[in-house]
Amino acid sequence: MTRLRCQSGGREVSLPGSLHDYHVHTYLCGHAIGSAEEYVLAAIAAGLDEIGFAEHVPLYWLPVRERDPEIAMPEERFEEYVRTVLDLRASYPEIRILIGVEADYIPGFEEALDSLLAPYPWDYVYGSVHYVDGWGFDNPAYAGSYSEWDVTELYARYFELVCAAARTGLFDIIGHLDVIKKWGHKPPVVPEKLYRSVAAELSRCNVVVEANTAGYRKPVGELYPSAPLLRCLLDAGIELSLGSDAHAPGEVGSGFERALAELRQAGCASLVRFERRNRTYVPLPKAR
Ligand SMILES: [Zn+2]
Ligand SMILES: [Zn+2]
Repeated sequence: MTRLRCQSGGREVSLPGSLHDYHVHTYLCGHAIGSAEEYVLAAIAAGLDEIGFAEHVPLYWLPVRERDPEIAMPEERFEEYVRTVLDLRASYPEIRILIGVEADYIPGFEEALDSLLAPYPWDYVYGSVHYVDGWGFDNPAYAGSYSEWDVTELYARYFELVCAAARTGLFDIIGHLDVIKKWGHKPPVVPEKLYRSVAAELSRCNVVVEANTAGYRKPVGELYPSAPLLRCLLDAGIELSLGSDAHAPGEVGSGFERALAELRQAGCASLVRFERRNRTYVPLPKAR
């Protein structure tokens, strides 16, 4: 592979050293732009020392004819995705390039997911809940259906699915933990008891939780997880990783300074790093 010249669109964001972005997509999923190589170049320009890909897994729970190519890559391109990222690793030794995937958790399809993922050398596997009982709530096309729910009950059901995902043991990281708030729907009071029980269950399952900065760019305008949920996670001893959920190269590392400030404020002292599904830890970068 020949290297592209570094073209970051003039964006030179210098983030503190020893910092990763473990959640970037590519054009392959059908609703993001940019090649994997463009994301690597953006990460180098942003001063990150690791970039990890977490492309949406093919829609393994649906019959092939029902799979929307604007939601996830077709299964026949899955191997190409992994190969492309691994080839980039050889071409850009100046940055650690990790191969991950963002897998939807769909109850009842655990074995299908396990066999889809089995052939590849993942550094980590994200488990994300994008569907509540078949409803793709985070898709703008279906966001109108929030009105059919009592929001407190919706949160309870959503987090029940998150905990079920963690219990499968298939996932290293839970993605955008409270993405159910994406469009700004929140229970009238902070569901402290629910958050405590979710944190206890995730801790028991020994999963990492992602601090995901995409929430800053959505109507809710907050980090995933929110401050009260983050406090519960840290109290339960849960470890965190960091991701931008970039769907364009220009979003790599987006919101990281703000997220780091929030994490420091909440008392988080370190971030998890992955390699072949094993964890090490780096101190949270100090404020400058
Ligand atoms: Zn996406
Ligand atoms: Zn997601």
